[in-house]
Amino acid sequence: MDLGQLYQDVILEHNRNPRNWGELPPPSAHAEGHNPMCGDEVTVWLRLDGDRVADISFVGTGCAISKASASMMTQAVKGKTRAEAEAIFTQFHAMVTGQHANPAEDAALGKLKVFSGVARFPTRVKCASLAWHAMKEVLESA
Ligand code: ZN
Repeated sequence: MDLGQLYQDVILEHNRNPRNWGELPPPSAHAEGHNPMCGDEVTVWLRLDGDRVADISFVGTGCAISKASASMMTQAVKGKTRAEAEAIFTQFHAMVTGQHANPAEDAALGKLKVFSGVARFPTRVKCASLAWHAMKEVLESA
């Protein structure tokens, strides 16, 4: 399969230099994600301040897509309200699972659009969405 479009510079750069890497000190909540198909593991920490994501971080091992997606997820969600974070999750999930019929629907996702090609590779969807599901889980528990 052709991974050329998936491994764009943005993904490789975030894989090499992940943002918001490391544990958050208490008080924070965390959730873990595991993708047995690829071997990806991720833990996402999140601290809410009222209704806002005051801080978010992650640690993970696995493929470049899973790490880059986690890194860019933390950037996308940090500082957002709970509702905004959930809306970004919904948009991202729809994109990587191929539910966006029109590429214009991905516009609101900004540079997260680099993961749009994942929709064509079903085995990679879980890599790209792993950290997002962990974020949603911890958001709902926080
Ligand atoms: Zn993976």
